[in-house]
Amino acid sequence: MNEYDSDRIKNALDAEPTDDPKKADIIIVNTCAIREKADQKAFSSLGKYKHLKAKDPSKIIGISGCVAQLYGEALLKKMPHIDFVLGPRAIPKLSKIISEIEREKKRTVETSYDIEELFEVEPYHQKGKVTAFVSVQQGCNKRCTYCIVPRVRGDEVNRPLDDILRETANLVNKGVKEITFIGQTVNSWKENGYKFGDLIRAAGEIDDLERIRFTTSYPRDITKRMIDAMKDVPQVCHHLHLPVQSGSNRVLSKMKRTYTREWYIDTISRLKDAIPDITISTDIIIGFPGESDNDFEETMSLMREIEFESSYSFKFSPRPGTLAADFAKEDAVDPHKASARLTRLQEYQKDITARKNESRIGQIEEVLVEGESRNDSEFLSGRTDHNRILNFKGTKDLIGKSVKVKVTEGLLNSLRGELVV
Ligand code: SAH
Repeated sequence: MNEYDSDRIKNALDAEPTDDPKKADIIIVNTCAIREKADQKAFSSLGKYKHLKAKDPSKIIGISGCVAQLYGEALLKKMPHIDFVLGPRAIPKLSKIISEIEREKKRTVETSYDIEELFEVEPYHQKGKVTAFVSVQQGCNKRCTYCIVPRVRGDEVNRPLDDILRETANLVNKGVKEITFIGQTVNSWKENGYKFGDLIRAAGEIDDLERIRFTTSYPRDITKRMIDAMKDVPQVCHHLHLPVQSGSNRVLSKMKRTYTREWYIDTISRLKDAIPDITISTDIIIGFPGESDNDFEETMSLMREIEFESSYSFKFSPRPGTLAADFAKEDAVDPHKASARLTRLQEYQKDITARKNESRIGQIEEVLVEGESRNDSEFLSGRTDHNRILNFKGTKDLIGKSVKVKVTEGLLNSLRGELVV
């Protein structure tokens, strides 16, 4: 989501991006507020630019994204070297804001929610890149008690179908082969009687689009219509990220996740009945206020029952203004205990992921080649249908093509293989 917004910011400015802050006329730190760590990171990166502003006061420095939305005006007081604060919904206003700052030398805060042109600025697309994100929705209508997203990104606004298809087709014309639709709860997308399954079917009709992915799905919004579309549209990749957060019904209910452990497990079965080779990854929050040893064991037993392909797990972080931050005042889990639980869960996941990766040795996978491998330019890198990174020896002319690769090694975070000719 933030990567997408950063690319929109690049386009909103119609400026040439640079990696060197010393050379930049404008520096914008785009931020995430989901956990406390992320928001501290934002402050420390802004701090780094203080001396650049002191040296050259004509440099314009701003903060954008969810931390900007969360603290607003207070950020101008806290950091005298910044010129503007821009909420995530205000990206289309950016170029106007910059011109005003240049003209009037006035510091600005833009954090209103009622931005009409919400989807107007499309993201910068790096030439030759074969994958791209397309936003289908902004904000969120769920009210998970731990989550700050609805507060900083506002209520759910769905983008019109035609708009989504137009942006997707434009990207495909530029050579993109794989699109990932993004939204906070992407599969709750609806517009004018159309539902998410219809969006997938419509995208499946776009010529030369080879792969369709989407993230992040909300479990309760997985419908038969969606599963049928995933099954029928051949471009849909057989991998789904489906955050479960906890395996304990008591905790799920305190989180207001609106489903039970049993319901989640049944949903995975329905997905597997329709698409037998589908792989599932998830997110887990450890140490939610009041999480008992028993609740945590329920999460571990769910991990064993489902055996996720991979998982992202986080220690609960109290966010300002959320209900769970209040629960934590009375019911916080001891941080050492939470860390021990997190380590145990992550060690378990490592074993499962390693085992699953090893089990792919000898199989032939279809890989969309994205570029050279980061560590070794003799190797190319791409993803399998199941969203695993697969590196193999090959020449650069294969970038952008779908090729068959035989898996020879299963590492923890990636696979290695040999091109099948
Ligand atoms: N709706 C988006 C939210 C992204 S946040 C999505 O589902 O992708 C990504 C993950 O961060 C969530 O699934 C959750 O596991 C975790 N998270 C959110 N708020 C948190 C908090 N207060 N503390 C710890 N982890 C949190």
